[in-house]
Amino acid sequence: MATERTLSIIKPDATRRNLTGKVNACLEAAGLRIIAQKRLWLTQAQAEAFYGVHRERGFFRDLVTFMVSGPVVAQVLEGENAVASNREIMGATNPANAAPGTIRAQFAESIEANTVHGSDSAENAAVEIAFFFSGLEIVG
Ligand code: GDP
Repeated sequence: MATERTLSIIKPDATRRNLTGKVNACLEAAGLRIIAQKRLWLTQAQAEAFYGVHRERGFFRDLVTFMVSGPVVAQVLEGENAVASNREIMGATNPANAAPGTIRAQFAESIEANTVHGSDSAENAAVEIAFFFSGLEIVG
């Protein structure tokens, strides 16, 4: 296994409920290091660009509306196999299907307001990290 980086977002449902620290504790307990982090409120255009791959899906409009409904916390996580291990600690997209102990099983409100985003491949992680962070902001 190699040391990898992945992009995580703590979504508006979680910042609204003051869960940033609890989510971070789960990430760190899973062995992931938070090597960059910033809180920001996405614009409509930024949310549409970030989720551009989902543009054709029926839930795209709702997803963008949700993602601009409050602040998010964007993060770079680093660790062994970080992409897969973050996906594991996040849990399934629909919290009803998320394994016990995962972030989404513990905190998600719905399939849409599901607390966290995590890159799904190393290739997408590189693109998504560059969307939010410059090299100077990432301190490994
Ligand atoms: P993820 O990789 O587990 O985040 O899931 P996807 O890439 O399939 O979807 C991206 C995001 O869109 C999810 O995290 C949810 O916030 C949202 N989403 C996914 N499926 C649905 C759906 O069926 N309905 C709605 N409203 N939102 C969805």
